[in-house]
Amino acid sequence: TPELAHASSLIASIPDFPEPGILFRDISPLLADAAALRTVVQAVIEPFTGSFDVVAGVEARGFMLAGAVAIAAGVGMVPIRKAGKLPRPAAAVSYDLEYGTAEIEMSDDLPAGTRVLLVDDILATGGTLRAAQELLSRLDYPLAGTAVLMELVDLGGQRVCGPVHTVFRV
Ligand code: 5GP
Repeated sequence: TPELAHASSLIASIPDFPEPGILFRDISPLLADAAALRTVVQAVIEPFTGSFDVVAGVEARGFMLAGAVAIAAGVGMVPIRKAGKLPRPAAAVSYDLEYGTAEIEMSDDLPAGTRVLLVDDILATGGTLRAAQELLSRLDYPLAGTAVLMELVDLGGQRVCGPVHTVFRV
């Protein structure tokens, strides 16, 4: 649609950030545009309408998306955070980064059986979302689906944590 094309045009591509050789996709200009934000939030939700009870956002850019998606869908949201940030983590999952490892955590305040829609801004190698899915599984929360704004197709993330619903692909 023209609305999605406009939204897509607002994603900036920044060479050599955060390291030389990386082309960083910056979704901030899209989020700052009211119409574009509304459009992509609807596109994230669309395949999952009625099938989730809460949205989980992955720190940090996933939080921004999760809040907007939650309001639009009429559900609540829950944070998946980098280790050490939550006061009452109930589970932790480590995963490999290009250099070293990272760890994410989640609380277990949700009622048993709460269906979770997992969202983040970008699907790259898929390691982050795979770890987030594992976290939900450890806590026995059913995964209603996984969605991102943009997929970096060549990095193969769908093979690691797919199927992931993606609004834009590059
Ligand atoms: P993955 O674990 O799939 O390799 O990386 C995904 C995580 O890194 C996401 O949380 C995402 O926010 C971040 N990320 C990786 N590449 C980019 C990028 O080009 N732009 C943005 N905004 N985030 C990225």
